Amino acid sequence: MNLIEALRDIVGPAGLIDLADAEPLLTDWRGRYHGKARAIVRPASTAQVAGVLALCAEHDIPVVPQGGNTGLVGGATPSEDGTAVVLCLTRMNGVRKVDTGNDTVTVEAGCTLQQIQELAASVDRLFPLSLASEGSCQIGGNISTNAGGTAVLRYGNMRALVLGIEAVLPDGRVWNGLRGLRKDNTGYDLKQLFIGAEGTLGVITAAVLKLFPALRSHATAWVALDSADAAITLLSRCRAVCGDALTSFELMSRSQLDVVYQEVPDTRDPLDGATPWVLLIELADPSHSAPLQTMLENVIGAALEDGLALDAALPSSESQAAALWHIRHIVSEANVRFGHSVTQDISLPISQIPQCLAQTEARLLSAGLVDGARFLYVGHVGDGNIHSIVLFPHDVWAKVDDREARIEAIGKIVNDTTVEFGGSITAEHGIGRAHRAELAHYRRGVELDMMRAVKQALDPKGRMNPGKLL
Ligand code: FAD
Repeated sequence: MNLIEALRDIVGPAGLIDLADAEPLLTDWRGRYHGKARAIVRPASTAQVAGVLALCAEHDIPVVPQGGNTGLVGGATPSEDGTAVVLCLTRMNGVRKVDTGNDTVTVEAGCTLQQIQELAASVDRLFPLSLASEGSCQIGGNISTNAGGTAVLRYGNMRALVLGIEAVLPDGRVWNGLRGLRKDNTGYDLKQLFIGAEGTLGVITAAVLKLFPALRSHATAWVALDSADAAITLLSRCRAVCGDALTSFELMSRSQLDVVYQEVPDTRDPLDGATPWVLLIELADPSHSAPLQTMLENVIGAALEDGLALDAALPSSESQAAALWHIRHIVSEANVRFGHSVTQDISLPISQIPQCLAQTEARLLSAGLVDGARFLYVGHVGDGNIHSIVLFPHDVWAKVDDREARIEAIGKIVNDTTVEFGGSITAEHGIGRAHRAELAHYRRGVELDMMRAVKQALDPKGRMNPGKLL
């Protein structure tokens, strides 16, 4: 069989990518993994996806699904052996149904997150998932990674935002689970298997997503603190006073902000003092007249008075608030420009965050693994999710000769400490290729057996995204 011709018969000439132009699709966002592919296809319909998977099943060819390729754990990059077909969902970006009465949209997997946010806004609704990569990541990728982002505190992650899924199984059969139901107790909740499966069980081709009332009033604050403990206390107070209006509660360390200000020319510190921690807080409400600004001023005013907060800036215009969010959203790019980051995307019981970070730093320092590097923290602290980053300047990293061993040793200390404090080694980025060994280490026994049984049931030949997750 000539595979390329057989694939062209299924997806048409426009659905086949010339491998000579494919380097960006064979490299992960951080540039850490490079793979090879036998072919890269861009099907335009569920039937074409089914055709590709059936063909690959017949000839025992591995398949790597790819969305916007913004994942941070190498999940969408094929292996170096060049045996896989990469299946990009980019052309499947249609809207199948908008049902405002049910507050849902049914969309194809290749729609970018931003496209869905705009679609929701066009019918006076909100789709609340929000990530810095929203211009390029796709909803199929968001579902496959159970993406989180900056509004999980109020709306939950992708698991909470998906009502139905259409997926093509590894043998090419199509499962139409596109039900827009908020209650459905007909057996196992199969869609949840595909959410967070990182393309290892099949290809998601469409989904029914929940919409929410559009938000019409907002209040934002940038609050300087001297400890992570203070952030936890302020979170409790904000929750008590602001209730559901509390949408985002983002923590950044001074060390992280310094890298942003150094690397991104259009950013500057909204406050004068160099305090060790900063919170970016956002309240939002569907009503035009919700007293959000007053609520936020009251809670922060009280925190300033009793010394919990050191300083604060409350923007008075949308553009000022956007400038603060720009600082938050640009951290990953700033870090890439500054050096090499060894990042762990951990989650913890919120109360344990300060002690866990302090303990981790002490252990990394005493192990002598971080000479010349900086500790950076940024995260969705309201969800207990911190990105713990050891950032090596380029010149320091260039002199590290045992890089893979160093990355592993740092990861082990961070992960062991996180698990000791009751946390998880990945909160939102997933396992992919980067954390496969850790998954096997930290989730052994019955839990891992059950995951393997699910994989075996749906993909007995292990052809879907091999070398990822399990
Ligand atoms: P890809 O990277 O293409 O793929 C990710 C995984 O999903 C791979 O395993 C792939 O095989 C699989 N996959 C993709 N599409 C499908 C499909 N249709 N069917 C089956 N499997 C599929 N993540 C967060 O959760 N929160 C954040 O705040 C966040 N911030 C980020 C900021 C930046 C600057 C960047 C670069 C990334 C960030 N991410 C964040 C990570 C990333 O954007 C998310 O994981 C996103 O959900 C990935 O979507 P994607 O379409 O790019 O998927």
